[in-house]
Amino acid sequence: MSLPDIQTLTLPNGKTIDTHTFLFINNEFVAGHGPMIDTVNPTTEEVICSVHSADESDVDAAVQAAATCFETTWRKVAPAQRGRLINKLADLIERDIEHFAHLEALDNGKTVAVARDIDITDSVACFRYFAGWADKIHGKTVDTTFDKMCYTRHEPIGVVAAVTPWNYSVQMPVWKLAPALAAGNTIVLKSSEVTPLGILHLAALVKEAGFPPGVLNVVTGYGHITGNALTKHPLVAKVAFTGSTATGRRIMESSAASSTLKKIQLELGGKSAQIVCADADLPHAAAQACQGIFNNHGQSCNAGTRIFVQEAVHDDFLALFLEETKKLKVGDPFEDGIHQGPQINKVQFEKILGYIDLGVKEGATIALGGKRVGTKGYFVEPTVFVNCTNNMRIMREEIFGPVVCIGKFSTVDEAIALANDSEYGLAGGVYTKDVNVAIKVSNEMHAGTVWVNCFDVFDQSTPFGGVKNSGFGKELGKYALLEYLNVKTVKFQLMDI
Ligand code: NAD
Repeated sequence: MSLPDIQTLTLPNGKTIDTHTFLFINNEFVAGHGPMIDTVNPTTEEVICSVHSADESDVDAAVQAAATCFETTWRKVAPAQRGRLINKLADLIERDIEHFAHLEALDNGKTVAVARDIDITDSVACFRYFAGWADKIHGKTVDTTFDKMCYTRHEPIGVVAAVTPWNYSVQMPVWKLAPALAAGNTIVLKSSEVTPLGILHLAALVKEAGFPPGVLNVVTGYGHITGNALTKHPLVAKVAFTGSTATGRRIMESSAASSTLKKIQLELGGKSAQIVCADADLPHAAAQACQGIFNNHGQSCNAGTRIFVQEAVHDDFLALFLEETKKLKVGDPFEDGIHQGPQINKVQFEKILGYIDLGVKEGATIALGGKRVGTKGYFVEPTVFVNCTNNMRIMREEIFGPVVCIGKFSTVDEAIALANDSEYGLAGGVYTKDVNVAIKVSNEMHAGTVWVNCFDVFDQSTPFGGVKNSGFGKELGKYALLEYLNVKTVKFQLMDI
C-alpha cells in the first residue's frame, strides 16, 4: 500500500515536522510512476522517508501543464501582478524559514543556522530582487531610416526546464525560478534526487501564494530517467542546468537530440584558485581563504580549493590558515556552534577519502586533517594539503569536499599561469594591497568571477557563472533575467509621411 503524500518526520530534539513526498503538477501533489527514492539523513545514515519520482509520462504531464499555463494564463498576467505573486512567495518562505532549515539539516546535513541564515535567507532575497524586475522588463526603440521605425520586445521564452544539484538544494533552484518567473516563463523543475524535501515545501507555498496552476511544477526523480525525459522534451524551450560538468555535457547531447532546439544554460563544476601575494594582509587573507574553501563542507562549485601562496610568506600564511581551520567544529548539524556537518552521502564521502589517499600517494603532505570523524555519519575532517603541484590530480579534479591544496609561486605572472592551468573557470581570488596586481590578476584570470581581498561573496544584483568547462550563462542580477528572455524585433514602414 502506498503511503500518503504528507509524512511526519521526527527531529533529533523529538519535535516533528511534516514533508510532502509526491510530485507537484498543476498546483497539486500527485503520485509519480517512477521508482521510489529513499532520501537519507547523512548524519545518521538512516532513511528519512521515501519520495515519489517521475517517469516519462509524469514529466510529460508536468511539461504539458507548464505549456498550457504559459499559453493560456501566465503570459497574460500583468507584470506587476507577477511581481506581487513572487513577493508573496518570498513572504511565505520567510514565514516558514525554520521549517525549511530543519528539513535541510535533516536531508542535506547543513547546520540549521547555515540553512536558515544563508540558503533560505538568500532564497527569500533572491525572489524579492527578481520580483522587483517583473514590471521593469522592456525593449528599446532603434532608429533606422527616416521612414521606418523599429522596436524590440523582451518576451518570455516559454517552458523552462530547470535541473538542479543537491549542494544548495533550495537556493540553486531559486536562482533559476526567480528570474524565470519574473520574466514570465513557466517552469518544470527537476530537483536533486539526493535532497528532495525542501523544494517540495516550496512547491506547496507556490500554491498558497496564489500562482495559477502550471506556473511551477516539480518533478523529483533520478537524472537518467526524469532529468533525461525533461531535457529532451519537445515542448521545453530552455534548459537551465546546475550540476557537474559531466552531466552538463549529457544534457547538451540529449537536448540537441530533441525535435526542438533549446536555449541551454550550464552552471557547472569548478576548481577555483586563490592567490595570496606577499603584500597581502595575511590574517585577513587566511580567514577569507579558509571560508572560501570550507564553506558548505567544501561542497560549493566556486570553492577556492587551490591556494597559491607567494614563497616569501608561504609559511606565515600557512600557520595562520591552519589556525583558522582548527576553529571549524565538525558535528551534528542540529547542534549549536557547529560549522561543518556531514558530507552529503556515502558516494561523496568515499570519493573524498579516496582523493585524500591519492593526494598522499601523489606526494602532497597533509598539514591538517585527512580522516573520517567518528564512526557514524559522513563526517570528514577539514583537510589541508601542502607541497601541492599542478601535475597532481588533487590539484586538477573537483573533490567537492573539505580538502584544500596549497602550492607556492614566485612571481605574479607565474601565479596567474598556475591558476589558469585548469579545465575549469568558475571563480578565483587574489589577496594583495597593490591595486595594479589586483587588476592584472582580475583581467587575466580565466574565471567568471574574481574576488579581490575577499571570497565567496554573493549579492542578488551581481552576476555569477563560469567559463571553460565551468559552463556558460549567468545567474543573479539583470544578466540572469536576460537569460530567460527572447528579444523580438518589430519593424514598421511608416506610411504617408
Ligand atoms: P550532478 O551533475 O550529478 O546532478 C545535477 C542534477 O542533474 C541532478 O538533479 C541530477 O539528477 C541531474 N542529472 C543527472 N544526470 C542527468 C541526465 N542524464 N539528464 C538530466 N539530468 C541529469 O551534480 P550534483 O552531484 O547534484 O552537484 C554537484 C555538482 O554541481 C558539482 O560539480 C558542482 O560544482 C556543481 N555546481 C555548480 C554550480 C554553479 O553555479 N556553477 C552550483 C552548484 C553546484
